[in-house]
Amino acid sequence: MELPVSPALRILGIPIHDVTLEEAVAWAARWVAEGGAHQMATVNPEFVMMARRDPTFRAVLERADLCLPDGVGITLAARYLGRPLRERVAGVDLAEALAARGAAEGWRFFFLGAAPGVAERAASVLTARYPGLRVVGTYAGSPRPEEEGPMVRRVQEARADILLVAYGAPAQDVWLARNLARTGAKVGVGVGGALDYIAGVVPRAPRWMRRAGLEWLYRLVRQPWRWRRQRVLPLYVLLVLLERVKERI
Ligand code: UDP
Repeated sequence: MELPVSPALRILGIPIHDVTLEEAVAWAARWVAEGGAHQMATVNPEFVMMARRDPTFRAVLERADLCLPDGVGITLAARYLGRPLRERVAGVDLAEALAARGAAEGWRFFFLGAAPGVAERAASVLTARYPGLRVVGTYAGSPRPEEEGPMVRRVQEARADILLVAYGAPAQDVWLARNLARTGAKVGVGVGGALDYIAGVVPRAPRWMRRAGLEWLYRLVRQPWRWRRQRVLPLYVLLVLLERVKERI
């Protein structure tokens, strides 16, 4: 399997790879075997809008090994721009799939972030679901740079292979870009709300809503504070529409 050298497409300048869930797990397996530090980001339209204005975040996504298409706003935009993607890959599905494969392979997982206690709960849910899964550490910590040193040491000492970081974007992705190599973990993934879902502290949209492309709406209704983050979405739609017009000129 070869990772295309260039992303499948750019949406408003932000790279997106056409990689399925199964392929993302296969990449993780290869990177765990080979060593090195590889970063995955789960990119949704809010990421794209943030990265347009934040050069640090944009550089982090540019350098990430995989920018996975999370969010229906990404897959719809890709189709509209004439470069359809095969699948949407949500952070929570990736976390589950990595745990399933990792349990069989003996990978060592570390869960960083989410509110205190949540990562521990997510770990016990996943170890019950995938017997043999090794979660070698969990820590809520904080994405603040002042706390990086001791947090990096914790992950290092646990000798983790896979590091899932749940601080939301851009904090989780910037944290990984700065620290993944120092932690010794081979694969780092910014997973957003995945630990909240797995721990059961935030309910996930029912399957029919996910299939209908309405997960964002469910999240907005359950967590109304999200309007602040989601208010960029109408502008996102407009800019994607304009992008196609620009491409045709
Ligand atoms: N979070 C955290 N510390 C922070 C900010 C966020 O632990 O300073 C956690 C929060 O508890 C949640 C995750 O980061 O578990 C972010 O989830 P969100 O649903 O906002 O991410 P998204 O999937 O929307 O990127």
